[in-house]
Amino acid sequence: MSSTPTISGTIQSTCCICPVCGQAATPRIPGPPSTVLCMSCGLEALGSFPPSKDRESFYQENYYSEETGARFLKLFEWPFVLFRWLRFRAISRRSARCGAIVDVGCGRGDLLETFKTHGWEVLGTQLSRTAARAAKERRGIEVVCGELPQLGLPRGRYDVVTFFHVLEHLAAPQAYLAAARELLKDDGLLVVEVPDCSSPGFRILGARSFCFDYPHHLIFFTHNSLGSLLKRAGFEIVGTSRFAIEYSPYTTLQNLLNILPGEPGRLYRALMGNVEGQSLRRSPWTWLHAALGLTLALPALFISLLALALPVGNTVRFYCRKKLG
Ligand SMILES: [Zn+2]
Repeated sequence: MSSTPTISGTIQSTCCICPVCGQAATPRIPGPPSTVLCMSCGLEALGSFPPSKDRESFYQENYYSEETGARFLKLFEWPFVLFRWLRFRAISRRSARCGAIVDVGCGRGDLLETFKTHGWEVLGTQLSRTAARAAKERRGIEVVCGELPQLGLPRGRYDVVTFFHVLEHLAAPQAYLAAARELLKDDGLLVVEVPDCSSPGFRILGARSFCFDYPHHLIFFTHNSLGSLLKRAGFEIVGTSRFAIEYSPYTTLQNLLNILPGEPGRLYRALMGNVEGQSLRRSPWTWLHAALGLTLALPALFISLLALALPVGNTVRFYCRKKLG
């Protein structure tokens, strides 16, 4: 252990290196898998990131269905029609015109399909070739595969760039934000939503919390740390939300279920359309989790609605404009 000046000017014990910026960090969640809090960039991140070739493979196999590009069982897909419309409405209300949008990590293009229906020019980016193919073949959405900073998309071309639950998966989020800034017109809108790891569920449950999602999530943002990162990336924050209907109540519910012994996230993983989901649905433990989940659904909705007054919504969304000059 050593002592190092922090961004707040105080001295704290350090033992680790921040995997995002390489500066000194202090331990937070003991591992494995562990997290560290960086003294320089202020981000909490996994103590060490999985190798990049492993991270790429997470999204190629078993993350999306080979047949449909979907992640969840068909029965649970219908609410996403409402969710994507709510996202469309929130974004289009803040954008001056019907223009061009890039959705980074666009999944199988659900959100972009809604924008396209309303006359927008749409483009998705995606690491998963399976999801990209599904977006093109099933929805007619143009999707480019690869890392945003290396795609060479036209600068100053887009009215909106969105990152919905993408930034926490990235080893270098600052490079993606810099690329997004270059793509946007001067009056363009950046929308970023991530899990909020300052919420009680994450602080109490640590690696067992739903937001931990090992090994997919590399960075554990809070309202403050994401806000600072966006400002350093040259953005001005013009709006904030700490509740998302598609994310906040279910996160609270899954966190309550994660108090039970066994590997966390059992119900969530059982709702997936992949091989692991099939296997979990054969277990009586999964059906016990499902029965408890039904019982806890209303209390979980109520708790997460407290986000209107308290930071318990499990998610944070920022609307940003480019800082000019
Ligand atoms: Zn750092």
